[in-house]
Amino acid sequence: MREDVEAIEERDDETPSATGGCLCGAVRYRLFGPLRDVINCHCGQCQRTHGNFAAYTRVKRSAFSCDERQGLRWYSSSDRARRGFCRTCGASLFWERLDGDAISISAGSIDPPSGLKTTQDIFVADKGDYTELAPGTVVTLQGRRGGKAQPEVNAYTSVGQGVAGLAKGETGETE
Ligand SMILES: [Zn+2]
Ligand SMILES: [Zn+2]
Repeated sequence: MREDVEAIEERDDETPSATGGCLCGAVRYRLFGPLRDVINCHCGQCQRTHGNFAAYTRVKRSAFSCDERQGLRWYSSSDRARRGFCRTCGASLFWERLDGDAISISAGSIDPPSGLKTTQDIFVADKGDYTELAPGTVVTLQGRRGGKAQPEVNAYTSVGQGVAGLAKGETGETE
């Protein structure tokens, strides 16, 4: 297991691009630099742990500072990825690959206004049958695993925007 996330004290003089935390305040974080557009992940794991699809933004790990983490716990959802949550209030907050250099952050945990836009829906092959996709987002039946394309990864469809898929090297928030 990798080292736990930490507060980055060298960033204390910088203005964060966003701040956020869980419902009870036992986890608080700052984000620096650009935030990725929000991707809705409809995979079965996200549905189970978020109670619905997951809306994630993402930053480099070096741009993530977890300043209050007394409530933070990690669940190893596979041998390749883990999910961060608050043990006190139950908030689902983070997702990261163990060998990655980025961390995904639940968009709803960001202090509003986030200024973010939702641009993609991924793993829609697994989406709940009660979920209606918003028009205008790029829709992907599957995400990528481990950054490696798999045959079904190329089965992209889209809603009103032509054929499109995840950016090169992008991974879906699953596992
Ligand atoms: Zn909490
Ligand atoms: Zn997912």
